[in-house]
Amino acid sequence: MKQADAVVIGGSAAGLPAAIGCRRRYPQKSVILIRQEEQVLVPCGLPYIFGTLGSPEKDVVPDAILTNNNVELVKGEVVEIDREKKAVSMSSGDTIGYDKLVLTTGSLPVVLPIPGADKGNVFTANKDLIYLKNMLDTINGARDVVIIGGGFIGVEFADECKKNHDCNVTIVEVLPHCLQLALDEEFCVEAEKVLTERGIKLLLNSKVEAILGDKQVSGVRLSGGQELKADVVIMGVGARPNVELAKKAELEIGPTKAIAVDRYMRTITDVNIFACGDCAEKYSFFSGKLSRTMLASIAGAEARIVGANLFNTRYRNHGEIGVFSTIIGEQAFGCAGLTEAAARQEGFDVVVGESTAPDRHPGGMPGAANTKVKLVFSRDNGLLLGGGVSGGKGTGEIVNIISACIQHWMTAYEVSLFQMGTHPALTASPIVYQMVNAAELAVKAM
Ligand SMILES: Cc1cc2nc3c(=O)[nH]c(=O)nc-3n(C[C@H](O)[C@H](O)[C@H](O)COP(=O)(O)OP(=O)(O)OC[C@H]3O[C@@H](n4cnc5c(N)ncnc54)[C@H](O)[C@@H]3O)c2cc1C
Repeated sequence: MKQADAVVIGGSAAGLPAAIGCRRRYPQKSVILIRQEEQVLVPCGLPYIFGTLGSPEKDVVPDAILTNNNVELVKGEVVEIDREKKAVSMSSGDTIGYDKLVLTTGSLPVVLPIPGADKGNVFTANKDLIYLKNMLDTINGARDVVIIGGGFIGVEFADECKKNHDCNVTIVEVLPHCLQLALDEEFCVEAEKVLTERGIKLLLNSKVEAILGDKQVSGVRLSGGQELKADVVIMGVGARPNVELAKKAELEIGPTKAIAVDRYMRTITDVNIFACGDCAEKYSFFSGKLSRTMLASIAGAEARIVGANLFNTRYRNHGEIGVFSTIIGEQAFGCAGLTEAAARQEGFDVVVGESTAPDRHPGGMPGAANTKVKLVFSRDNGLLLGGGVSGGKGTGEIVNIISACIQHWMTAYEVSLFQMGTHPALTASPIVYQMVNAAELAVKAM
C-alpha cells in the first residue's frame, strides 16, 4: 500500500493550492494528489472554449505545477475512505494510506428537474474534457442555442457562443434581470444592454418548463406556453457540492448540503480529514451565516488555510467575501462583498458613493474605458461593505482592491485617503481615481 503524510483528493482550484500549500508549509512531509481526470481544466475557462480559446485542450492546467512542487500525482477515482485504517481505496483496487486527508471533490452542475432534461444536445458546465469536446462540436453546427440561466455562467456561455458561431443565442432567465444575484440592478441593466447589442436575445422573468424533441432537443417550452426553437440547450443554473464520497465515509453534511467544517477547515466529524472548495460548507464574512457562494477564488483561499493547518493549526477562515468579475464583449462587470440590495436586506443603513472616470489619463490615451465604481458603506460606523464596478479590463483588479479593503475593515474615511499609484497608460488619474472619489462622496453623505 502506498502511503503519504498528506493525501489530497481532487486536482482543481482547491486541490492544487491545498497540496502545494502543504508542501510549502511542511517541506519534510510527503504529499499525494489524487484526481480522477486525465487532464484537469481551468474551470473558470470553460465558457471560453466555445469562442476565445476554441478548444478544450487550450484550457488545461499543466501538471508541471505539481511536479515543480514535488507533489506526487495519482490518477484515478477514489471510491472509499476507511477512516479507521486511515486509507483511501481507488476504483483500480489500489489503496493509499494517509496521516491527513483533504477532500476537494468540488461540485457538479445542477440539472433542472424538468421533462426532456435528458435529451441529446442538452449540456451543462461539466468540467470534463471529452464532454466539452462533444459539446463544442455540437455547438459548431448549431443554429439555435438556448441558454437556461442568466447568471455569470449563462452570460459567459452566451457571449462566447455568439463570438465564433453564426447562430441565434437566447438566454432564458427566471429573475427580472441577468446577473441579479451578483450585481446591483443598474449594473444588470447595463450588462443586458451590452448583451442585446451583441445580438443575444434575452427573455427575462421567463421559466423553461420543458425541453422538447425526440431523442435530440428541438426546442424548449416556457411556462407561458411559448416555444423556442433550439438544437442546443445549455443549463447554467448553478452547481451542487459533490459529497458522495464524504457521505459514504459518514462525514457530517451541513444544511447547505456541503461537508460541515470548522473555522480551521477540519471536518466536524474527523480531525484528520479537512475539506475545502465547492464541496465544503461556507460562511459569510459579514454575518457568519451559512452561504452557498462557490467560487474558485474562495476555493483557493480555503485551500491555503488547509495547506497551512494540516499539521499545525495556524489560520482561521474568516468567511467568504464573495468577489466576482466577468466581461461581456469589451465591457467588464464586478462586485466584491455585499451589493447595495444585499446590504439593505441584511439590515444595514447604507451610504453609497459613486464615481465614474476613464481608466487611463488623459481619457484620450489608447485603450481608455470609462469605469464606474460604486461603494457601499454602513452609515453607523462607515465600514466598507461592498462595491460594484463596470468598465474596462481593470475592473477585475479594482474589485480585488475593494475586497482587500473590506477584509481589513476599512471605513469610508480610510478608503478616501487610500494611497494609490497611478500612470497615464495604466490607471485612472489621481484626481478622479474612482475608489477614493466614491469614498469621499460617501463621507460627505454620512
Ligand atoms: C463555467 C464556470 C465558470 C466559472 N467561472 C468562475 C470565475 O470566473 N471565477 C471564480 O472564482 N469561479 C468561477 N467558477 C467556479 C469555480 O470553477 C469553482 O468554484 C471551482 O472550480 C471549485 O474548485 P474545487 O477544486 O472546489 O472543485 P472542482 O473544480 O469541481 O474540482 C473537483 C476535483 O475533484 C476531483 N474529484 C471529485 N471526486 C473525485 C474522486 N472520487 N476521486 C478522485 N477525484 C475526484 C475532480 O475530478 C476534480 O479534479 C466557475 C465555474 C464554472 C462551472
